[in-house]
Amino acid sequence: MLCMLPLVAAEEAQTQPQQNHPFFRTDAQPRWSQMTPQQLLADVDAACEQAKARFAALAAVTPENATFRNTFLAYYEAEENLQQAQTYLYHLLHTVGGEQWLKAQEAVIAKTAEYESARPHAERVWQVLQAAASAPWVSSLSEAEQYFIARTMTRLRASGTGLPPDKQARKSAIDSEIKQLSMQYVANLANANGVWQLVITEPEQLAGMPEDWMNTARQAALEAGFGSEDKPAWLINLSNSPARPVLTHCTVEKTRKQCWYGANSIGTAYALDNEPIILRILELRQELAELLGYASFADMQAAQLMMGSGENALAFVDELLEKSRPAYEAWVATELERLSVGAGRKLTSVNPWDEAFFSAKNPAAGGGFDAGKITPYLQAEKVLRGMFDIWEHMYSLRIAEVPAVCLKPGEQCPQGAREVWHPAVRVFAVYDAADGTHLGDCCLDLYPRPGKRDMGWCMPLRFGGEGEAHLAAIVANLTPPPGPGKPHLYSHGDLYVLFHEFGHMMHMLLGHSALRGQSAMDAERDFVEMPSQLQENWIWQPEALATFAFHHETGEPLPKELAEQLAASRFAGPITFHMSMLCAAKLDLEMHHHYREKFHGRSLDAASAQLLAPWQFPYSVPTPCEMRNFIYCMTEGYSASFYTYKWSEVLAADAFSRFEREGILNAATGAAYRKAILNPAASRPMSDSFRAFMGRNPSPAALLKQYGL
Ligand SMILES: [Zn+2]
Repeated sequence: MLCMLPLVAAEEAQTQPQQNHPFFRTDAQPRWSQMTPQQLLADVDAACEQAKARFAALAAVTPENATFRNTFLAYYEAEENLQQAQTYLYHLLHTVGGEQWLKAQEAVIAKTAEYESARPHAERVWQVLQAAASAPWVSSLSEAEQYFIARTMTRLRASGTGLPPDKQARKSAIDSEIKQLSMQYVANLANANGVWQLVITEPEQLAGMPEDWMNTARQAALEAGFGSEDKPAWLINLSNSPARPVLTHCTVEKTRKQCWYGANSIGTAYALDNEPIILRILELRQELAELLGYASFADMQAAQLMMGSGENALAFVDELLEKSRPAYEAWVATELERLSVGAGRKLTSVNPWDEAFFSAKNPAAGGGFDAGKITPYLQAEKVLRGMFDIWEHMYSLRIAEVPAVCLKPGEQCPQGAREVWHPAVRVFAVYDAADGTHLGDCCLDLYPRPGKRDMGWCMPLRFGGEGEAHLAAIVANLTPPPGPGKPHLYSHGDLYVLFHEFGHMMHMLLGHSALRGQSAMDAERDFVEMPSQLQENWIWQPEALATFAFHHETGEPLPKELAEQLAASRFAGPITFHMSMLCAAKLDLEMHHHYREKFHGRSLDAASAQLLAPWQFPYSVPTPCEMRNFIYCMTEGYSASFYTYKWSEVLAADAFSRFEREGILNAATGAAYRKAILNPAASRPMSDSFRAFMGRNPSPAALLKQYGL
């Protein structure tokens, strides 16, 4: 991340690495102009050496001289600079980009892998921590410190620390087999694009397809050696002339059917079948969980989350599914009726290749509000200031822009200014309005540019310890300024990104714990999206829009009717997306909690279809299990925890219900939220923080009400 000067700088900076370690967390203000790939590698080496020395000191602690400071805190701090360097690298890689940072990343991965494979004194460190965790002095520590110890121990156990050597070896073997299988799974999905294709030589088979699409498909065929200028052919595959539009537009059922099977061949057909890979991964995850003392992989994942157990998570998803069922069944009935009109006969089931086609022909589909109507009222600068005004008022803050400079190596940062990684970055300092304390700096890198990653996120760059300010960045790709003389307007989607990411930002900057390992980002993973999703609510509220939405030409406020139509459109769409998220969550949990009972030795498609039968649209043919093509749960961090999306939505909707009751601009409610949820960050379980704000445990009632269930 960091800013660093653009690419030229690296060449100019071929000086010796600095001895002051700009990639460490030592300075409150990062010195981006000193952060070069060369410097990074030197600092990573230094951080690994430092960690080794710190672990050696930790290993020498005896029960007689053990304290919280020289055991658990020392453990946390041992690799802190290594992690800080990786944070800065990640940031630079995704905001500055370019070959030099990719190469630096490769080198860092190699260096850290080497360091980790020989992490010194691991066994002795575990003994020291285990003894310290049950020492009598623990009971006299603060609640936050005791919580810190408990979470560290849970994390260590779940990672296999302290296992006897034979089990340790088996765990390594499982980890590496899962890694191999995951790579194969991803490769199968990537390669599927090149495996399935359909060549059409009679244009009447493509009746109804738009002209642009036809031209692209004809060109693709020519390039692949099919047809000629005189005797054209049309190529359909899953990449450049995709099969999906055929399902919507083509009037020929046979072609739609071929394309539906083609599109569903991803992760299913040919040599790219993901079924055996998925079943083997599930088997291995179950074995891993048992090795570590858990009944299931879902239990193992949930142990570090608010949910606590796989059973609790399943009960949560089942309850939402059950409560959504009547509305879902009503929707299916209406949908069948509508599709019957398109088909010209009464349908009790639908061919999956006909659904999109009949839906598109039916004028009753869609009818949503065009959010583009409010764009003229969203002037970029007014929106930003208006959003800051809301948070200033609600959380009792003062937010002020400070000068930002992008320096060349060797240049001095002017007094009062902040160094940034790119000239486009702006910095806003956030102060407590009551006593003027500088809580942190918020960096905004909001618009696209070459080399920058095409996504939006909020990331902590440096956590302040006791009495120090935090630093975090929002990196996004909002509608960029259009050039001189034209108004810079945001879309409603831009507003969504800003408010969502500012929810994270407020959590990061306002969190206040004496321990750096208890920052907002250390909160249970099924909680971290709650503050961001909560804050999204404001972009739908006429009362909030009235504070910053003014027409760029006339200066008139957003008309009341438009604001109300916008608010009404929020949950007006079909229930399908909500249901598909719940079904994926259910499948993910069942696979990882009841693997032996429900999946072992069975066909993946049949087992999944049986589980989800009550909530599946009545198709005329079986559809493949979606986990065949679902990286989230099979290879990335959401295995056994895909439900967390819905869970944080429940928490956010529930917490918002208090704001709705007491006023979305009610500063007293904002203060209560800041005190109960933002300030404590991860210094206590998030369920305690939630109860402190709501006075009770979370309830899905508010979410169900939003969806009209
Ligand atoms: Zn988020």
